[in-house]
Amino acid sequence: MFTMISYLSASLVLIGLAIHLVTLAPLRRMIAMLPAGPLRNKWLAMTALIFIFIAGYLAYAVIFWGQQSQWSEILIPCIFLFGALFVWLTIELSLQTATDLLRMNVLEVESITDPLTKAYNRRYLDRRLDDEVARSKRYSLELSVLMIDIDYFKRVNDTYGHQAGDAILSTLSGLVKASLRDLDVVARYGGEEFLVICTNTPVNGAALVAQRLRQLVESHQFEIADDSGKKQNIRITISLGVAVLIPGFDSKEQLVQAADQALYRAKEEGRNRVIVTMNDAKESVKSM
Ligand code: GH3
Ligand code: MG
Ligand code: MG
Repeated sequence: MFTMISYLSASLVLIGLAIHLVTLAPLRRMIAMLPAGPLRNKWLAMTALIFIFIAGYLAYAVIFWGQQSQWSEILIPCIFLFGALFVWLTIELSLQTATDLLRMNVLEVESITDPLTKAYNRRYLDRRLDDEVARSKRYSLELSVLMIDIDYFKRVNDTYGHQAGDAILSTLSGLVKASLRDLDVVARYGGEEFLVICTNTPVNGAALVAQRLRQLVESHQFEIADDSGKKQNIRITISLGVAVLIPGFDSKEQLVQAADQALYRAKEEGRNRVIVTMNDAKESVKSM
């Protein structure tokens, strides 16, 4: 016969079972966030465990249906309920923690990335240059930088429109990033200027990199759409200034200024060229 105790017992077990069913929703969202791999497999195993729990709760409810008559028999249904609550809370907290970490990661990446070109932004560049200059001085490593500027970019904007100019900036950034080592840092320095930090690279190596980039851009067909949406390919060129960190000429500001001056000379000498500041009293500039 059903007593108040057996009603209570059945209610506790059925509520626990419902909580397990509710838990499947955050669990599914959690699994959807994860790429294939061991972590995802473990969460899939967790899903299987929950189905086993659900089957166990159902079996208990059916087998012991209406049999409880002592208060002590409430203990197991209570454990069932709190077990279900524990599982639900654990999964909710895991999902929330994972979502927050992901959001923080996205914010962190956004805070150091230029939205148009996806290169690092000026804020990151300044910080990274400080670090790299300090590291290079401390461990006597060679550090070179390239300053890149698009030639006659104003004309591109004037002829094909600002959106086409934006597309070129974005493609150029991708080209530069793809052709450098992972250790190099590509940042948007200003409007149509990029600065590349070549870590642990002597000036001759950086000069070769610069020349390779110049040739790559010169031969690349940049696809743009004009203001009416018509697509076409155009070519652009870049000028580059290269400078290296050397003793007595070793602040971040001096390094960037040297690359900027070399770039200025590349422009003066006709553009689409690389000028290397050798930082050497005898031969201060090498044109390529
Ligand atoms: P030079 O060969 O001397 O470098 O000539 P330039 O025309 O490239 O140089 P200038 O400094 O006169 O012009 C730079 C142009 O870059 C002007 C500006 O409209 C354009 N620019 C700067 N930032 C952006 C941007 O985010 N998007 C687009 N589309 N254009 C930009
Ligand atoms: Mg320019
Ligand atoms: Mg410029």
